[in-house]
Amino acid sequence: MNNIRIALQKDVSLKALNTFGIDAVAANYLEIHGIQDLERVYGDESLQRLPRLILGGGSNLLLVSERFEGIVLRMVNKGIAVERDDGQAVYLRVAAGEEWHGFVMWTLQQGYPGLENMSLIPGTAGAAPVQNIGAYGVELKDYFYSLRAFDFQTGQMVELDREDCGFSYRDSIFKHEMKDRLVITDLTFVLPREWKPNIGYGDVAKALIEKGITDPTAEQISHAVIAIRQRKLPDPKEQGNAGSFFQNPTVTAEQMAVLKAKYPDMPSYPQPDGRFRIAAGWLIDQCGWKGRQLGRAGVCAAQALVLINCGDAKGKEIAELAKAIQADVQAKFGIQLVPEPAFV
Ligand SMILES: Cc1cc2nc3c(=O)[nH]c(=O)nc-3n(C[C@H](O)[C@H](O)[C@H](O)COP(=O)(O)OP(=O)(O)OC[C@H]3O[C@@H](n4cnc5c(N)ncnc54)[C@H](O)[C@@H]3O)c2cc1C
Repeated sequence: MNNIRIALQKDVSLKALNTFGIDAVAANYLEIHGIQDLERVYGDESLQRLPRLILGGGSNLLLVSERFEGIVLRMVNKGIAVERDDGQAVYLRVAAGEEWHGFVMWTLQQGYPGLENMSLIPGTAGAAPVQNIGAYGVELKDYFYSLRAFDFQTGQMVELDREDCGFSYRDSIFKHEMKDRLVITDLTFVLPREWKPNIGYGDVAKALIEKGITDPTAEQISHAVIAIRQRKLPDPKEQGNAGSFFQNPTVTAEQMAVLKAKYPDMPSYPQPDGRFRIAAGWLIDQCGWKGRQLGRAGVCAAQALVLINCGDAKGKEIAELAKAIQADVQAKFGIQLVPEPAFV
């Protein structure tokens, strides 16, 4: 029996491993400490054939099936290192299993600003490229350099740069053609030595002004972001959730003009490509869903974009609530809401 068979666990509860707190079971479960573990799974014909779920912190997942018959590969590999510093920028490598927020805190402690607006986003570093995480005016792609991944089709490691990853708003190739095929093992960020604060986002600017800060440091921005997030978003430890459940929809300028004529208060944000992004939370609120419940699944009373587990909800109850919201938003506004989390 090889090592991988010894480390493989059967019938593992995923309840504590997803932030919705959904009680689903994995038929096979393996913690991935490094590339060798992935090579061993690939080398074992019966394991290689199984459907795969690559798991990080479980904060962008909805476990709809009560039992996952495939193999869960949970990324727990660790390591953060300075790859190089050419005087213009520092290149930092982080392992997929590192906690994202811990990595952001490390960069700030070392004096490498850039990622501070993305403080306190839950989950692992390895999952961050999957939906090109973003918050308060900054996206992962703004500081991303490259990543390495294990390809389950070839059994080889591949290296991808920013172009290869096809990043866009909450999207990348890892949500589509490369889903469950490429396992991201580590990423490299490039943080320019010349740093400019990004405080264009209303809430952050307001919080800093309230504190009398006009020329903020990266740490001060990080503190402001953390305080805003703690105030606005329910803590998954207290109320199961996956953050924003739907993407903010993007519409053309023509569609926006029609919507604005009918709904002058609709919050919208112009995009560099001439299109407009609409606040999905506002659409959901307008359909009367804020604070409502459907069975044991609910819509957060403080933040309509966040769906919550009101107590032992099954994944399919959350999925049914999401479907009901989508139908109402479609009927009222003619807009199709797209979920952010992966449905498993
Ligand atoms: C309270 C709260 C607030 C949030 N706020 C934000 C926010 O501000 N901005 C934002 O963008 N997101 C936000 N999210 C969503 C979530 O934190 C991010 O999407 C995060 O990157 C998910 O990381 P994870 O490790 O938990 O991924 P998981 O939920 O474990 O996985 C998510 C997806 O990525 C895949 N995946 C995971 N690891 C790998 C890997 N190593 N290689 C390949 N595929 C992989 C999984 O198979 C799955 O499809 C929030 C979530 C919560 C609960």
